[in-house]
Amino acid sequence: MTSWRERFEKKDRFLIGAEFVSARSLIKPSEGGKIIDFVDGLCKNERVDWVSITDNAGGNPMQAPLILGKAILDRGKPAVIHITCKDYNRNGLESLAWMYAAEGLNNLLVLSGDYPIDGVDGVSKSVFDIASVGLLKILTDMNNGLKVKGRKPGSIQELESTDFFLADIAYLCPQSQCAKNQRNGPCGGSLEGKCELKTFGKECIWIRAYDRERYFGKGIPELLNRPPILKDNALKGTSGWANFFLERDHFVAR
Ligand code: SF4
Repeated sequence: MTSWRERFEKKDRFLIGAEFVSARSLIKPSEGGKIIDFVDGLCKNERVDWVSITDNAGGNPMQAPLILGKAILDRGKPAVIHITCKDYNRNGLESLAWMYAAEGLNNLLVLSGDYPIDGVDGVSKSVFDIASVGLLKILTDMNNGLKVKGRKPGSIQELESTDFFLADIAYLCPQSQCAKNQRNGPCGGSLEGKCELKTFGKECIWIRAYDRERYFGKGIPELLNRPPILKDNALKGTSGWANFFLERDHFVAR
């Protein structure tokens, strides 16, 4: 099988992928059925270069992409697994990444994800501990061999904090002003300047940041050309300004 990467690197033709939305049901490749027949058809179709499987698309709970992803691989087609930040924190996402790597599902489409709109007995709480850019950084670090900090004996940093972003989004706070806590760029869902989450009822923080930066003669490159930053939850509940001046936040690493 020609891998997804090889197909891209060859650059000899326009590639076509099919996106398959998972279902809220028990899908067992061994038992066949309508969904598996459809996936079979996509895998046999030579015009389709890869099949991607969504991750709780539209903010609705569905079967995770692993099972269908494996079924696609078994049928000799490159599988692309969507991995989103709405339902898992960074530890959960790292666990998923290890699992996908162990299963040979090495093509991940990294997204911030659609805000949850459904769930059993009510709408699920969103996570957005990190967003797509932060997750890409973690995956890149994993590719390069992840280096993790050891816990120093006796150093207990149990202070609550928010690690506000201060100057990073033109002095706007992503914690309170963005429904998905997008710290490294817009999620891409805003419409006419408004946040994609209508119930949030605010302008997109990145549109506001752009307007502010433009006033000072700067643009989006100044906002986005920087290393990705992941919020440090150990600082939850403390002052962002204090953390900045006391060099406890992400600026220290720069
Ligand atoms: S404020 Fe903007 S970046 Fe944040 S969730 Fe809404 S549309 Fe997305």
